[in-house]
Amino acid sequence: MSRMKQHLSRAVVVATLGAVYLAVGSLFAQQTPVVGYTDTPMQPNGKWHVHDPARPQPRVVTPGGSEGPTTPPPSDAIVLMGSGSDLSAWSMTDGQPATWDMKDGVTSTGKGMLRTKAEFADVQLHVEFATPSKVEGDSQGRGNSGVFLMGAFEVQVLDSYQNRTYADGSASAMYGQYPPMVNASRRSGAWQAYDIVFSAPRFKASGELDKPAIVTVLHNGVVVHNATAFNGPTQHRRIDSYSSKLVKGPILLQDHGNPVRYRNVWVRELKGYDE
Ligand code: MG
Repeated sequence: MSRMKQHLSRAVVVATLGAVYLAVGSLFAQQTPVVGYTDTPMQPNGKWHVHDPARPQPRVVTPGGSEGPTTPPPSDAIVLMGSGSDLSAWSMTDGQPATWDMKDGVTSTGKGMLRTKAEFADVQLHVEFATPSKVEGDSQGRGNSGVFLMGAFEVQVLDSYQNRTYADGSASAMYGQYPPMVNASRRSGAWQAYDIVFSAPRFKASGELDKPAIVTVLHNGVVVHNATAFNGPTQHRRIDSYSSKLVKGPILLQDHGNPVRYRNVWVRELKGYDE
């Protein structure tokens, strides 16, 4: 090898090592520590604490398609959030009129939670949401809201785009119980969709739990929960026990102090075959 070539190949090796060093360096620079809890009860599987910071981060999957068009409601859907400024399907949780801002079919979170006036059991639910494009806060403080089925079982809303948090609190997590199987979040500010199929819990005449609440969730068209049972109603830092009163309940949208927008929310009540 000529001296010139030797110099060149040495330069290439140095440059390659430099690039690898920079890439690895920036990888570690992004790995902010996960904030979570280890003084919480164990999950029923005995592997992780509730909100365990060591539970693996869901693998990132880039969803297909674009932010739109939205999935319009089918003919037998109950439209909960449609066009214009109509929030008549909703109230605050204390029954007072809904105070969240609603304009041109888009609702922005306000003070206090929103609940549907109607109560539901088994449903197919479509929800679109967007967290702010101007990123503020991190972990659970970035775009936090939530969709509660029967007022009790939360599918987490969060800006989980390049935002590490305890896995069971990620966007589309069954909050405090199961992280999504994958992280299918779009970029901050983009419109995103949840398609949720939910079965209410069933109880025996004695009041004993017969069948838990079960949920299948698609986040931006990607399955993140596949007929997974809730271990009980959602709570922060613990998991509640089932109560036989959980027969029907409203859909709730959570106010967690972060601005989040919602649009195109509709629900179909699910019946059995031949009904
Ligand atoms: Mg939440």
